[in-house]
Amino acid sequence: MYLKSLTLKGFKSFADRAHMVFEPGLAVIVGPNGSGKSNISDAILWVLGEQSARQLRGQAMEDVIFSGSSARQQVGVAEVTLVLDNADHVLPVEFEEVAITRRMYRSGESEYLINSSPCRLMDIQDVLHDSGLGKDTHSIISQGKLDAILQSRPEERRALIEEAAGIAKHKRRRERSQRK
Ligand code: ATP
Ligand code: MG
Repeated sequence: MYLKSLTLKGFKSFADRAHMVFEPGLAVIVGPNGSGKSNISDAILWVLGEQSARQLRGQAMEDVIFSGSSARQQVGVAEVTLVLDNADHVLPVEFEEVAITRRMYRSGESEYLINSSPCRLMDIQDVLHDSGLGKDTHSIISQGKLDAILQSRPEERRALIEEAAGIAKHKRRRERSQRK
């Protein structure tokens, strides 16, 4: 499984449609300060279901919608589509490609789609479950996070390593079954 493409439209500084295609292996996005690099990683977090505006470096969720510039008016909807190559069927679905879309209107209304079919956020979480991808996994390390990791207490660091290694979910399952 690998990230095949990312399409942003009306998301943060990307007023126009921006389409990025990635190859397997390492991809690097470079650009001057303020050019939108972190907005791209925010878009990945957002499409994977992030619900906290703060995690997306905003005050309110509406801040993800392009708010206008001196040259153009604000837009009414933000949309991000992330396409995963699933030829190796790491994701438990029959599709060779999985396209996840999130759309949000200024009214606050949100829509999620898998391969263009409307779905619930829960359906997306189910598909990503066990793949190591998702908003609570450590597949995205944002600016400043590395510092926080280095300065964290040993127990916090241990929790992080357990989450990254996939042990945390087994611990949660064990705790859940012990409570029953
Ligand atoms: P650095 O190298 O400093 O980390 P960067 O390339 O990561 O920079 P970003 O933080 O991704 O830059 O982009 C910041 C820009 O995005 C700012 O100019 C900000 O005004 C713009 N921006 C953020 N949200 C919106 C929005 N909703 N509408 C329009 N522009 C936005
Ligand atoms: Mg940045």
